[in-house]
Amino acid sequence: MLGFTSITYYQQQLAEGAITCVQVVKHYVAQIHLQKHLNAFTNIFEADALEQAAVLDFHLSNGRLMLPLHGVVVAIKDVLCYKGHPVTAASHILENFESVYNATAVQRLLDAGAILIGSCNCDEFAMGSTNENSAYGPVLNAIDNERVSGGSSGGSAVAVQAGLCMVSLGSDTGGSVRQPADFCGVVGLKPTYGRVSRYGLISYASSFDQIGIFGNNVQDVARVLEIIAGPDEMDGTCSSVAVGQYSKDLDENTEQKYKFAYLVPTLELPGLDAEIKQQIEGLFEQLRTEGHKVEGIPFPLLEHIVPAYYILTTAEASSNLGRFDGLRFGYQCRDAKLTLTDLYKTNRTKGFGREVKRRIMLGTFVLSAGYYDSYFAKAQQVRRLILDETAAIFANFDAILMPVSPTTAFKLGEKMTDPVAMYLADIYTVFANLAGIPGMALPGFNHSNGMPFGIQVLTNRFQELSLHRISEKLSTTI
Ligand code: GLN
Repeated sequence: MLGFTSITYYQQQLAEGAITCVQVVKHYVAQIHLQKHLNAFTNIFEADALEQAAVLDFHLSNGRLMLPLHGVVVAIKDVLCYKGHPVTAASHILENFESVYNATAVQRLLDAGAILIGSCNCDEFAMGSTNENSAYGPVLNAIDNERVSGGSSGGSAVAVQAGLCMVSLGSDTGGSVRQPADFCGVVGLKPTYGRVSRYGLISYASSFDQIGIFGNNVQDVARVLEIIAGPDEMDGTCSSVAVGQYSKDLDENTEQKYKFAYLVPTLELPGLDAEIKQQIEGLFEQLRTEGHKVEGIPFPLLEHIVPAYYILTTAEASSNLGRFDGLRFGYQCRDAKLTLTDLYKTNRTKGFGREVKRRIMLGTFVLSAGYYDSYFAKAQQVRRLILDETAAIFANFDAILMPVSPTTAFKLGEKMTDPVAMYLADIYTVFANLAGIPGMALPGFNHSNGMPFGIQVLTNRFQELSLHRISEKLSTTI
């Protein structure tokens, strides 16, 4: 009944009375149940969503002006706090935990009239690239159920891909919005570090984490970003740089010619799928014929970015996850005979999954006396070099273009036995998080294996408007 195409068109239908929010919520709840096998949701907020919808319908029928996201049905990754609702981070250690407050992004969505339909499955504590590290099992790619959704925000990506919501929120520490967006053929944005408040986002690696957005088109993503972005006194790392009118200003300057850079070694990686490489080079050619500049630049640091990312993020994770001890909330072993130390150990041993434990141990190791300088301090130095190099590139170019992932969606189980191979596949996405810059994954290509893939656009810090404009332009080109 609901052929959702864009927020703008949907809100026109609401304004004309052709549809109501209550009808729409019922439609999505039915779809979620129908597509239960995809395992995209950990919780459905049916009663609350219907109540919100009824209130919004009432306001509209009484002549109140529409709110910016009036009636927009949003799903949120299960690492975002929504007051009075379960938040699990897809981990047993947060079993039965309910949030006592709203994340800033969640509060802003609600204030703007959005309807929260449910929380989405993900890799445990957002650690992973396939959604197979979830305590609730993997999310299936809706295009091919034998393939992964990507991760860690796999449920949020599939929720948009399969028409289970209009837009969704994820989190992106090293690619967790852009990579699943690429695997599922939807648009995925990671904003600049500090563009969106992290208050109420369960931390993985605090100097990398950023809330991101999935949508069917660039315009919808822009509409959500301008609502959730902006300063927040609850997050000291959240920037006070003014938020643009991203959706309104999107179509200006459509004739502009851009200067695009690509990092030469990104297209020379042996693991890069030949068809992905070919299509991306074809796009570069097309852009050149349209009068844009596309220039390859050397980037010898590329081989260091995955090691630097995994050293720094596991270090931060080992500290952040120290707070989950099973004593104050979440899973707790009920053996009364345990000593306090053994209780901590048992709670954490039983509460955390394999990948989370691996990262806590790695992080503890790289921070330990005797290894700190050779791992953690070295990786910080690499990060500084990446920042300097990135700033130098943006002094001369409007955007960097690169693949999102070296391959299309993996088969389920394919990468689970080899964590290093899984980590290495993050090569194109972790760059933006190390540098703190925004990135958009744009779909558009089809692989001969039947799976979608796209291109990644990166701009300088806080250049979200330019990022959206370029992405809008590219989405009509590919
Ligand atoms: N795949 C990356 C990792 O496993 C990214 C995760 C993320 O962005 N949350 O760390």
